[in-house]
Amino acid sequence: MTYVITEACAGNKDTACWEACPVDAIHPGPDDADFAAHDRLHIDPTECIDCGACEPVCPVEAIYPEDDVPEESRGSTTASREVPLPRPA
Ligand code: SF4
Repeated sequence: MTYVITEACAGNKDTACWEACPVDAIHPGPDDADFAAHDRLHIDPTECIDCGACEPVCPVEAIYPEDDVPEESRGSTTASREVPLPRPA
């Protein structure tokens, strides 16, 4: 399993989750060159260790364990996983 970020993040991009993640699984970070180019943050499922640290710090409650994503938000998280955000080399 992984945690995922829903469309509630769009336009907010609060970085509390990025700061809380112990394994840098959330991208892009605020110092990345492409940060402004994306409307939301993304959790890389190959890097996430399911610790849950990001979920409670999100001010817009955009983060869920993948299996608990509300039905109405599932499309946005699927799209996010299938098209990972580009990251700087
Ligand atoms: S659940 Fe833990 S490892 Fe996964 S993105 Fe959130 S803070 Fe990072």
